[in-house]
Amino acid sequence: MGAADEGFVTRAVVFTLDTSPAQDRMLRSYSGAARFAYNWARRTIVENLEVRAGERAAGVAEEALTPSQSWSAYSLRKQFNQVKPEVASWSGEVAKHCFDTGIIQAAEAFKNWSASRNGERAGVRVGFPGFKSRKTAKLSVSFVELNHQLSWFHPSRHAIRLMLPQTLLQSKNLHVRAKMQQLVWLHTVESTRRLYRLVEQDKATVQKVTISYTGGRWQASFMVRYQLAARPQKRGHTRIAGSVGVDVGLTHLATLSWPVPDVTDEDGHVHNPRPLAGQLERLKDLDRRIARCSDGSKNRAKLVRRRARLHGRVTKTRAIAHHQLANQLAARFDLVGVEDLNVRGMTHNRPLARALADAGLGQLRTIITTECTDRGTNLVAVDRWYPSSKTCSNCGTVTAKLSLSQRTFDCTTCGTHIDRDVNAARNIEREAVRLHAQQQADPSGLDVAGLRPETRNAALRTHKTEPATAGAAVSVDARTRQSHLRVA
Ligand SMILES: [Zn+2]
Repeated sequence: MGAADEGFVTRAVVFTLDTSPAQDRMLRSYSGAARFAYNWARRTIVENLEVRAGERAAGVAEEALTPSQSWSAYSLRKQFNQVKPEVASWSGEVAKHCFDTGIIQAAEAFKNWSASRNGERAGVRVGFPGFKSRKTAKLSVSFVELNHQLSWFHPSRHAIRLMLPQTLLQSKNLHVRAKMQQLVWLHTVESTRRLYRLVEQDKATVQKVTISYTGGRWQASFMVRYQLAARPQKRGHTRIAGSVGVDVGLTHLATLSWPVPDVTDEDGHVHNPRPLAGQLERLKDLDRRIARCSDGSKNRAKLVRRRARLHGRVTKTRAIAHHQLANQLAARFDLVGVEDLNVRGMTHNRPLARALADAGLGQLRTIITTECTDRGTNLVAVDRWYPSSKTCSNCGTVTAKLSLSQRTFDCTTCGTHIDRDVNAARNIEREAVRLHAQQQADPSGLDVAGLRPETRNAALRTHKTEPATAGAAVSVDARTRQSHLRVA
């Protein structure tokens, strides 16, 4: 797939953290500082927009208006540093990265909003950047340190570095130095060994580390950039050369165009773990108990945390199932055909929304894309308007209507009686093979119907020391993720 084949890819490797209460407090104040800087930048821009709008309304000439405020992270940071002693006298108590996090977030939010408004950005419309409230904003802080790559990792490979504030680092006080030692290493639940080795061998670069409170726990997401091997090794799986069509569904995690041993049942269905459905009662119960608690009570906070962790567990189980499937598909086949699903459109349909969110269709699709890119497997997205479920995979007759409740496809022309999803998967495979052949014949044809770049609005970041980044980051559990970071 284009640049990713010969170039670099960026992937996220996520480690769950096991923090001490002091570290938890530290990370909370870091996130608060990031939020503070974001809100400051947002307010600065909004006030400037309002002043200029007011002046225009009062008939001030365009040249005489108050100069417009730059939205770039660079100039916002410069301005912030000037006012910092005044607006944030406590700034020495947090790492300097905190403010950068917020400033960069604000700059990107305004850029995306403006691009979306001007039609330069694909996808769902981006709203005007909002105020981040202390109560609802996600706790998160990012650290960009391109130098001293190995200093992220503790020799035990079971802890990662926390950037500390200057006031602590520069202190000569022995008591403070001791406190620092207790704060600086964040214990990781999984080992960081695999990632460390790649960084050590110069095969991967840590571009950014984001620490966020997700699913009731702190986690560190390493944005790692590495070069794909010319031909990634395919090992650990029996290779089945050829193509496969994947129908992503609700009843099953997915249905393949033909049965694959150890992956599907005899029909071609991949079992859906539906972790959320199983835990739904427990979540509902927690919701009820939380609703009965008084606002701001300790008990409420405890229950909210428990609910977040339950959600986190569900997400993780789901991600592992998706990974196993995507990995098998990318490793075993030469060509994988998928449907270009309009997941966002489908979730507007309320009765289906819960089941859809549960199956995490969009996530599965993203993971399949990542795996195929990493392993050099051809991935073809078949246009979502291609009538894969209404066409007979045996004779090609298109039926007029097929309701969602109809689980089998019965062809009135050739008499084929086949599972609805298997029928769709076979059609997707056939269409993918056709599109792929068409693309091979005309390699310039990225605009061939049904074939388009996999990532929309993928951020292109350039660093002075690094070639430009390609590809989108996909957040994944460290255990599954690291095993794919094989760079030959
Ligand atoms: Zn037929």
